[in-house]
Order: sequence, then C-alpha cells, then structure tokens
Amino acid sequence: MVSAPHGGRLIDRVARGPRAERLAEEASSMPTIDLNANMAYEVANLAHGVYSPLEGFMTQDDYESVLRSSRLVNDVPWTIPIVLDVSEQVAKQALNNDVALSYQGVRFAVLNVEDAYRWDRRAFAERVYGVLDPEHPGVSATMARQGEFLIGGRVELFRELPEPFERYRLWPKETRVLFEQLGWRTIAAFQTRNAPHLGHEFVIKSALTFTDGVFVNPLVGWKKKGDFTDEAIVRSYEALLTHYFPKGSYVFSVLRAPMYYAGPKEAIHHAIMRKNFGATHFIVGRDHAGVGRYYGPYDAWKAFEEFPDLGVTPLFLREFFYCTKCKAVVNEKICPHDDSARVRISGTEMRRMITQGQRPPDYMMRPEVADALIAMGERAFI
Ligand SMILES: [Zn+2]
Repeated sequence: MVSAPHGGRLIDRVARGPRAERLAEEASSMPTIDLNANMAYEVANLAHGVYSPLEGFMTQDDYESVLRSSRLVNDVPWTIPIVLDVSEQVAKQALNNDVALSYQGVRFAVLNVEDAYRWDRRAFAERVYGVLDPEHPGVSATMARQGEFLIGGRVELFRELPEPFERYRLWPKETRVLFEQLGWRTIAAFQTRNAPHLGHEFVIKSALTFTDGVFVNPLVGWKKKGDFTDEAIVRSYEALLTHYFPKGSYVFSVLRAPMYYAGPKEAIHHAIMRKNFGATHFIVGRDHAGVGRYYGPYDAWKAFEEFPDLGVTPLFLREFFYCTKCKAVVNEKICPHDDSARVRISGTEMRRMITQGQRPPDYMMRPEVADALIAMGERAFI
C-alpha cells in the first residue's frame, strides 16, 4: 500500500483538455507575473500535488503558523513555507484577482490571489535555518529575495514547463500508480543532490533490504557552487542503478525543487514531499540537508521525534566507510574498529580525481559511475 497523501488528499491543480485551453485564453488578458525558474517550478510542484495538502502559495495564517509551530493552521506538519514574493505594487494590484504566471515569457498558470502580506526575511531565515549567517547558502538565498510582500492563493497550471530530463519526470499521481503496479507495499525514498559514491549505494541498499523497493529521487535545479550538475547526477545514477541494482527494485525520477540546506527542517520537508509520491519510508542520513557545520550530524534524526503524526517512517542510516580490518564497506554501528582502520569516503577527494580524469578507488566509487562523470569533464560540476 502506498502511503496516504500528506493531509489526506492528493492535490491536483492541473487543468487538462478544454479547461486548459479556456484558462490559457483567459490568462492572456490577465496581469502577468514573470517568475524565475525556482518559483515557476514550485508552481508546477504545487499543481501536481508534490506539496499536498497545499493548493497554492501560502496565505499569511499558514505562513505564520508554520514559522511559529512547524504546522499548518489545520495542524498538519509543515516546516518550510512555500511562498511567492513580489513588490508592494504588484501585491496590491493582484489582491483578490486572478493573475497569470509566466516563465521565460510564456504564460503557464493562473494564481488566484487571496492574500497579500508583508514578510520579514530575517524571521523566515531565523525560523527555517536556525541561523542568520550570510555565509549559509539558504540564508543568503532567502535574504536575496527581492519582493517586500508575499502573495498567497491557489494555483492552476494549464501548460507544462520544459524538463530536460523528460523521461525521468514523474509526478506523485504517476509514481503512486507505478508503485502499485510493481506490487510494492513498502517504498523507501532516497533524497540526494549528489552523484553516488559507495556510501550512498550502501545506504540505499540497507533500506532496500527491508522494503519492497526504493524511490531514488534527486533534487535538480537550484544548487550552490561546487555541486554536481543536474546532468552529472542523472548520468551517474543511470550507471549505478543499471549495473548494481536488481531490475524492478527501484524507480528513479528527478524533482525540480530548491535546496534550502536547512538541515533538520528540510529533512522533514523532504520526507513530506516523498510521502506525497507514495513513499512509506524515508531515508535520513548523516547531516541530512546540512551544509558546513551549522547542524549536528544527527540533528535531523531528532527532528522526526517532534512529528509522530508525519505519516511516513524515517529510516535512520549512518554514514558508510571502508574499513581495512573488516575489509568491507561498513558503518560505525556494525564495525568495531577504530579510526585508524577506517577510510572515509571523501567527496572533495573524489571530485579532485574526477576532474583530473582519474577513477577514484573501488571502495569509493563504482568504475561505471566514475566513467560517466569523467566523460562529462567540467560539465559535471557547477
Ligand atoms: Zn571494521
């Protein structure tokens, strides 16, 4: 049984057939807000139910409730507000009206603006990230948002946005059917923003050992400098899954959504999204969605204690490494040896080797994965 959607009902705000045509026609004479890529794809995520039970951008009551208590007004757990910022002038004109939303000059959705309110970016940052350090990539992205006002209301999408990895774009409605067809009763979702090294593979396989299938669902879209490019993530997972996972044991699709680097709050957010895709379990690794040293390595695990009603089961998995005494890839729960026997899988070191066209050692990365990345050269990194 796939999991019930968050809040009980899978949201579908996608207009189809004649309704889509009519909306497109109406939208052509509406005031229009042109969105950047981040916000445009958030509209698509809202419309396709990724953020169920949200039907659109948050109104003030939900926004404040989430910042205050990590719950929507109706008490459903929610940790990161989904908001659209605009100028004061646009906010005032838009209030109580339908506005068209466009991306790269093409209208694709309508927003029924129910609410317009001033927001405090610092309060957002403080509550969501727990820090105000401008070096934190999430904080700096939030502080860089231009609009003084947020507008809230339901969206309706009438034209799909472009997706470079179309064959790997699946929406919750589709994955739910797919999981049922595969006969999976338990599904472990894996969030990532990296090309896979052996540590990731063992984390996923640990979860797969106890579930019917894994849903590998990397975030693509906005990231920080030094991260793997979207193409690198897709190509490297193709290599890993094809060569090292049994057929029928995984579903792979990309999710175009922002990365906040908000640690514990984002771990909950990631779990909610994957619950909407139908996952019953969610893998939470070491320093999930963390960056630098802002969060403790297992803070995200603790965050789940606050949400016994989340409706998706977290799978807490420790970091894997190579142990020269175990002669295996292990984690600290199953290896009794001390640090001198343990070889950590270093992302920085792997990156350096790949950039120089060298395969990292076998205990760090599968050769097929390394070759896929090496073939991309500089295009592998942002
Ligand atoms: Zn050992």
